[in-house]
Amino acid sequence: MKITKATELKQKPDFTKLSFGKIFTDHMITMEYDESKGGWAEPEIVPYGRFDINPASCVLHYGQGIFEGLKAYKNAEGRITMFRPTDNFKRMNKSATRLCMPTFDIDVVVDALKQLVLLEQDWIPTAVGTSLYIRPFMIGNEDFLGVHPSKKYIFSIILSPVGSYYSGGLTPTKIMIEDQLTRASNGGTGEAKCSGNYAASLLGAEKAKKLGYDQVLWLDAAEKKYVEEVGAMNIFFVIDGTVVTPMLDGSILAGITRNSALQILRKNGYKVEERHVSVKEILEAGKNGKLEEAFGTGTAAVISPVGVIAYKGKEVVINENKMGKITEYLYDQITGIQTERYNDEFGWVVGVK
Ligand SMILES: *Cc1c(COP(=O)(O)O)cnc(C)c1O
Repeated sequence: MKITKATELKQKPDFTKLSFGKIFTDHMITMEYDESKGGWAEPEIVPYGRFDINPASCVLHYGQGIFEGLKAYKNAEGRITMFRPTDNFKRMNKSATRLCMPTFDIDVVVDALKQLVLLEQDWIPTAVGTSLYIRPFMIGNEDFLGVHPSKKYIFSIILSPVGSYYSGGLTPTKIMIEDQLTRASNGGTGEAKCSGNYAASLLGAEKAKKLGYDQVLWLDAAEKKYVEEVGAMNIFFVIDGTVVTPMLDGSILAGITRNSALQILRKNGYKVEERHVSVKEILEAGKNGKLEEAFGTGTAAVISPVGVIAYKGKEVVINENKMGKITEYLYDQITGIQTERYNDEFGWVVGVK
């Protein structure tokens, strides 16, 4: 692979004071696609820097943009690993297909990513709760006006050393069920990790913030009866001893953390259900004292306890606004496997060196 090194390296940040996604490393991967040149070129490592984008570049107008998020770790012995990278790139290829973007060879991209992470290994923080966040993304980059799929694309991967996603760390979040705006509809792009879904979610998120909530819990667009997911996390409830999460039925993102949580719970004998979960059921369980826990799952925050859920101005407080047992168990298990404190029975951890 062609590697062009940066002539000057950046000053490393104070790794004890990392926030999320504000600092980027010295290098990145770029790989270009041009239909007229036979598709994808080889990936390259280049100095982190700006793209040259024409004002008519189609991504700026028609939004062909997808992304992924995964993490790399350096364990106590200095071994560098990534968590389930192939699953992220498989999902990215699915997102690409939904947005009429070209798919790519997963092995080529994982191999390039390993080389990038190795080159940037001094950027991997090691304190508890920190990691090197990996952001692959792809944009349509043909210059034209008029709607059709782009014939040129840029695939890129950038890296960012991160601390916890929410400034509060593991303190329970307050979420608001949005009963008017929707994020994704059946047949739409909810299942794709595309930039537009996030644009669609911003107004609801701002509304929630103004009312004192951290996140929005989205409902299904057709009936606004069933819970779907939180902004960048899938949602789980523990109702009367059973772990319940909305089933994947087209408008929910198939989270890799969600899948990891389900596999760990099932393997360890927990009662787990993937099905429709109505707002009514959650409110009733809250009233009857059967809503024992709620938490979100996502790469950025891993597991995020939910302490309060609000719906039409009324609040349900969960587990006295404290992190629940299963929530804590999953956080410990997943982060333990990720950082190799625990044995990886599932084959999720991929060594970079
Ligand atoms: C990325 C994302 C998630 C979490 O997926 P992970 O693979 O667990 O990181 C959940 N919901 C949405 C909308 C997302 O974009």
